[in-house]
Amino acid sequence: MSSTQQPSVASAHVPASRTEGISAEALYEKCMALARNLWWSWQPDVVNIFRDLDPIRWRQLDHNPIALLKEFTPERLDARAQEMVLYSRINYAYRRLQEYLNATNTWGRTHAGVLGARPVAYFSAEFGVHESITIYSGGLGVLSGDHIKSASELGVPLVAVGLFYHQGYFKQYLDEHGYQREEYVDTLVENIPLEPARDAKGEPLTVTIDTRSGPIRAKVWQMQVGRVRLFLLDSNVEGNSPEDRELTSRLYGGDHRTRIRQELILGIGGVRALRAMDLFPGVLHLNEGHSAFAPLEAIRERMFEDGLSFEEAMRQVAQMTVFTTHTPVPAGHDRFDGGLVEEHLGPLRDALGISYDQLMGLGRVEPTNHEEPFCMTVLGLKLSRKANAVSALHGHVTRRMWAALWPWRSEEEIPIGHITNGVHIPSWLAWQMLQLYDRHFPADWQQRMGDPEVWRTVQEIDDGELWETHFTLKSLLLSFVRRRVSRQCRRRGESEEAVEAARTMFDPHVLTIGFARRFATYKRADLILTDLDRLAAILNNPQRPVQLIFAGKAHPADEPGKQLIQRIANLRHDPRFAGRITFIEDYDINVCRHLVQGVDLWLNNPRRPLEASGTSGQKVVLNGGLNLSVLDGWWAEAYDGRNGFAIGRGTTHVSEEETDRRDAENLYRVLEQEVIPMFYQRDRDGLPREWIQRMKDSISTLAWRFSSDRMVMDYTRLCYLPAAGGLSSQMP
Ligand SMILES: *Cc1c(COP(=O)(O)O)cnc(C)c1O
Repeated sequence: MSSTQQPSVASAHVPASRTEGISAEALYEKCMALARNLWWSWQPDVVNIFRDLDPIRWRQLDHNPIALLKEFTPERLDARAQEMVLYSRINYAYRRLQEYLNATNTWGRTHAGVLGARPVAYFSAEFGVHESITIYSGGLGVLSGDHIKSASELGVPLVAVGLFYHQGYFKQYLDEHGYQREEYVDTLVENIPLEPARDAKGEPLTVTIDTRSGPIRAKVWQMQVGRVRLFLLDSNVEGNSPEDRELTSRLYGGDHRTRIRQELILGIGGVRALRAMDLFPGVLHLNEGHSAFAPLEAIRERMFEDGLSFEEAMRQVAQMTVFTTHTPVPAGHDRFDGGLVEEHLGPLRDALGISYDQLMGLGRVEPTNHEEPFCMTVLGLKLSRKANAVSALHGHVTRRMWAALWPWRSEEEIPIGHITNGVHIPSWLAWQMLQLYDRHFPADWQQRMGDPEVWRTVQEIDDGELWETHFTLKSLLLSFVRRRVSRQCRRRGESEEAVEAARTMFDPHVLTIGFARRFATYKRADLILTDLDRLAAILNNPQRPVQLIFAGKAHPADEPGKQLIQRIANLRHDPRFAGRITFIEDYDINVCRHLVQGVDLWLNNPRRPLEASGTSGQKVVLNGGLNLSVLDGWWAEAYDGRNGFAIGRGTTHVSEEETDRRDAENLYRVLEQEVIPMFYQRDRDGLPREWIQRMKDSISTLAWRFSSDRMVMDYTRLCYLPAAGGLSSQMP
C-alpha cells in the first residue's frame, strides 16, 4: 500500500473543492458507479482518475478499479481526492456517464429504431473487454468486446451473451528453459463488475438444460458495457455435480464433452436466459460456431408458443439469425460425434419432434452420411439466412470451403458474404495520439470516427509534431518492455547482470518491430528466423540497427506452438541476438495496447490464406505505426502500395515449403531494401519524411475503414435490419 492518509499541503489551499458539497460516502459511491460500468475503460479521463488515486497499486491490480477502490475507505478516498484535486473530475465523469446512458440522439436511434423493441442478441464464447476481466483468449474475444463497445457507442439496441469463466484463459510464463508454463488463477468475483441477472419476477436467474444424462444448471450474471448489457452464464452453482460446476471454469479447456456442454450452456442456456428476463430478440447473431445451438432453442420456443411446425419455425428463426464464421482452418471448427450430440440434445430433439438422423443432418454437409460428425459451423450455416466471413479474401475462402452445402450453385452464388473486422478506436488509441488528433481534427471528430473526411485531416499535421508524439509512445513502450523483461529475468532467478541488462535494454532511436499474436503454427512466428545469419546482419547493422519484440501464447495442447516460443525466447542466449530480440510473457489486452501504441512496424506473416482477418495491425494504424504484412486477411484489401508494406504479391505456391521459402526471402528483401532505408533516411531536421508520409497515408486511408464502428454499421445495414425486417413482415 502506498499513498498517504494525512491531508496533504495542497489540500489546505483548495477548500473550494468541498463546495461541491458531497460527503465522502457519496464521492466513494460515484467512483464505484464509474467502476461498475466498463464504459470507464475507454474514457482516458476516467482511467486517469483511477490511476491518480494510486498509480502503483493501479498497475499492480491489473488496472482493476473495483479492486483498487476496495483498498480505500471513503475517508481515505476523500483525502486523496482533495490532495489530487479530483472532485470536479470525478463529478464531471459521473455526469458524462449519466448523459451517455440517457442519450437519445444516437446513430442507432436514427438508423436502427426497429431494433428498439426487439434487440440483437449477440452470442460469443469469449469477450475481451478489458484485461482485468479474463473471459477472452485472443482475437475472437477482443473482436466481440470491440463489437459490443461500438454497439454501445452507436446506440444499436443489442444485448450480449457469453460464459463466465472463473479461471479464464491461462496466465503464461516461461521457465528457465524458455518453455511455456500455464498458470490458472481464480477470479475474485467481487472484484469485477458482475451483478446477478434477475428474471421477470426479480429473482436471481438460473437456467436448467436437460440432457439424457441429467440436467445442467447455470446462473446468469450481468455486466454493463456502456449501454450494452452482457449476460454471462456460469455453471458453478449448487445442484450441479462437482464436475459440472467446473464446466465453465476455463476457456478452451477440457475435452469434447466439456466443450459440447459449454456450448449447450452458451447457446441453449443463453436463449432461455433472455426469455426468462422477458427479452425478445429480433435478431440472433452467432459470433462463430460455438453458439450455434441457440437457434434450435429459439425454434422450440416458437413451436411451443405459436403452434408452428418444426419446418415453419425453422424458417422463421433462420430468417432472424446471422452467423459469422472466423476460421479458414478445417481443424478450427468444432465437431462432435453422434453419441455426444444425442446425449446433450436428445431432450430438445424430442421437443422438436425430429429424429436423430434429422438432427444429425443439420450438422452435416451430407445429411445422410453417417460417417460425418456433427459440425457446429454447418449447423450455423444451415440455421441462418445471413452468413458472413470477416474479410473479402476470407469470404472467397469460406465460400469455397463450404461449397458442398450448395452443390447446385457456383462459387459466387454461395450465400456467404463478408464484413471485414474492425477495432474500437477509443480502446486502442493512445492518449497522446488522441490529444494530437484533438488539436488538428474537426471539433466533433470523436462523434465521427467512421468518417473518412475526418481522417484526411491527418495530412495537415506537422511532420515534426507527429514524429515526436510517436517517439514519446515508443519510449513508453520501451520502458514497459524493460520493466517486464527485468521482472521476467528476476522470476527465473537469473543473475543480477541479466536483470540489470534488461533494465536498460533497447534504444528508442532504433527501428522497433513488434510481432505478437497467438502462436499457432500457420502464423509462422519463426519466418523471420529462416536465415539467422541474414537476420543477425539486419539487426546489428551499426548504422541502421533493428530491434524485435515478440509476445504471444500457445494453446496449452499445442506442442509445436510452444516449441516456437521456446526457440524465440532462447535467442537471448545467442550473443548475436541478445539485446536485439526479446519476448514479453503473458500477452493480453494490456501488453497488446502497449505494443500497438509504440512500435514503428508491426510484422504479420501468416501462411496465406489462413488469416481470416487479423485485427492487431488495425490497432497499430490508429497510433501511427506501419504494417508489414503478407497480403492476407484485412491487409489484402487494405494495402494500396503507399500505406504500409507488403511481403510478396499475394501468391501461394502449392508446396508449403516453397511458399515459406519465398515468403521469407520476400520478407528479408522488403526489410533490407525498403523498410530500413526509409526509416533511417533523415533530412536536415532529423525527420524521416518519406516514412512519416506513409504514417499519414496509413492513418488517413485505414483508420476509419477498419474501425468497429464501421463494422457494426455494416452489420446493422446488411444483416440486422434485413433479419429483423424479415421477421416482422412474417409476424401479424
Ligand atoms: C487484438 C488482439 C488480438 C488479435 O490479433 P490478431 O492480429 O488477430 O492476431 C489477439 N490478442 C489480443 C490480446 C489482442 O488485443
